[in-house]
Amino acid sequence: MARVAVVTGGTRGIGEAISLALRDAGVTVAANYGGSDDKARAFTEKTGIKSYKWNVADHQACLDGCAQVAADLGPIDIVVNNAGITRDGTLMKMSWEAWDEVIRVNLGGCFNMAKATFAGMKERGWGRYVQIGSINGQAGQYGQVNYAAAKSGIHGFTKALAQEGARFGITANAIAPGYIDTDMVAAVPADVLAKIVAKIPVGRLGQANEIARAVAFLTSEDAGFITGSTMSVNGGQHMY
Ligand code: NDP
Repeated sequence: MARVAVVTGGTRGIGEAISLALRDAGVTVAANYGGSDDKARAFTEKTGIKSYKWNVADHQACLDGCAQVAADLGPIDIVVNNAGITRDGTLMKMSWEAWDEVIRVNLGGCFNMAKATFAGMKERGWGRYVQIGSINGQAGQYGQVNYAAAKSGIHGFTKALAQEGARFGITANAIAPGYIDTDMVAAVPADVLAKIVAKIPVGRLGQANEIARAVAFLTSEDAGFITGSTMSVNGGQHMY
């Protein structure tokens, strides 16, 4: 029987590419999203992949949303924690609300989704978690103390989850993308983006597909011995 995956933020950007790559790998996909109903509707009409609206920062909504997915499609085997937001500003200008929202969505969402799904994976002896971190969680970024902290937290969360899941056949890995050509990066001012691209050794932004293919591998049967890792997919921009 086909594996069932939930991709948070799975209806556009990197998440859309991940949903399609998993579907192409034979997985039954549920694409979660936060608020863009029109984009989600268009995505479902175009792909046939069911979309589910809930806020990943809301603990109960994640429990309810995952229960609905399981009722519709079957038990959840794969979770891709991709949903993310930015609320940039220097520390001096950043509000507590901007700090709190970014931590609750980007990092809190991973906890909420794991709480909703870990017990079932443990019971069935198989599971895959992939968290989408960021190069800015590895290296930091001016104007992003909230986002860098959340993404860095995701990398630590992943290693701890990997240790807890290992003996139950559950792996947990993170992908740390560099700058990928999506709406999120389109919001970066052109002059700032040009300076960023100049620092990428391969000389271009990444494509959402290049993240999606890495997710498809890490969630496959073949990747059972890979757990607790952070895979950098960044065109060589940051190596360590
Ligand atoms: P986009 O802004 O294009 O898409 C974000 C997705 O997350 C949307 O589907 C959005 O849903 C969903 N989302 C946002 N908040 C919530 C929420 N509270 N609950 C549920 N879903 C939510 O982002 P990208 O595709 O660019 O980024 C995807 C991930 O990759 C993020 O975690 C981002 O931090 C990370 N990343 C991106 C990089 C890049 O260069 N683009 C670089 C490094 C990391 P909706 O459509 O309803 O708004």
